[in-house]
Amino acid sequence: MKGKSVYILGPCSAESREQVLRTAGQIGDLRSQIDDFKFIFRAGVWKPRTSPHTFQGAGEEGLAWLQEVQRRYHVPVATEVATPEHVVAALQAGIDYLWIGARSSANPIVVQSIVDTISNCKLQIANLKGIFIKNPVNADADLWLGNIERLEKTGLPVGVIHRGCGHQPCWSMAHTVRLARPDIPMLLDPSHMSGDASQVPNLLRKVSELGLDGAMIEVHCCPEEALSDKKQQILPSVFSDQYSVISDQCSVISGHELNWLRAEIDELDDRLWDTILARMEVSERIGVWKRAHGVAPLQPERYQQIVQQRLQWAQIHGIEANSVQQIFDAIHHESLKKQAYQ
Ligand code: PEP
Ligand code: MN
Repeated sequence: MKGKSVYILGPCSAESREQVLRTAGQIGDLRSQIDDFKFIFRAGVWKPRTSPHTFQGAGEEGLAWLQEVQRRYHVPVATEVATPEHVVAALQAGIDYLWIGARSSANPIVVQSIVDTISNCKLQIANLKGIFIKNPVNADADLWLGNIERLEKTGLPVGVIHRGCGHQPCWSMAHTVRLARPDIPMLLDPSHMSGDASQVPNLLRKVSELGLDGAMIEVHCCPEEALSDKKQQILPSVFSDQYSVISDQCSVISGHELNWLRAEIDELDDRLWDTILARMEVSERIGVWKRAHGVAPLQPERYQQIVQQRLQWAQIHGIEANSVQQIFDAIHHESLKKQAYQ
């Protein structure tokens, strides 16, 4: 499947015939503005939603809308499958590409049942051009790699999609998979990775920085009216602005190991920052308790205990005691400020 960049574009969900055709038509129009632009149209027909009270997808009816996209706009179409029944219905409808979502990817029994169904439908897979698998919701590179091997048993071209964990990237997991399977195309899904349309353009830069093979992006003709993942979908025109940015970014070190490692460092710093903020919040709650019980913010004995224990970690991991002391002095200083100002 490796080769030219692959773009899989379309709404999170197929909501109505009109919404599907309008979105596909608008993305299709970009072909007259951008040289040599090809895409696969995506739309989820069966939606794995957190709450049972939200839109669950149009179901099989949506497959007919995707067939209409194939006929009218001459583009291949993709949808998500999560059960053997989905696979059979999608194959019967002549869907070109399937993808397995992050929740299903976390369960090898589900993945295997999809593989078995495809393998048992040999006659119907004539139209199927390939299958993509997203990373599992939990950051497990081995499980993702195992899923690739399972899917390869179908004999179909296989690609992977890094959608991160929750609304965070997980570069170390993606890096491990990239190093283990450089032969498998890896796409970026900045929409689910961020959960935020405003972050999609910035994340898309990672495609060329990390030498990825393309992206799956949620594009909707009217994002504010979307029935699922409303906050993260972008307009076709926003995608076309970004497309020129991505393709103009001719970086000589595209895909360089250093870029991957820097992405990992940025992600770890983000988490460090989140942890510091979460610690401040708990510290503020401690301040409320202390005030209510007439206890002074500074408790030297408790602070000594904290520092002693953290210094033991430093010793175990070969980090200078003085550096650890400085880190915790700074954190403690900020905590005391928070408690004193309440
Ligand atoms: C989707 O692509 O709409 C989707 C449900 O994604 P994920 O499996 O990454 O959450
Ligand atoms: Mn979605």
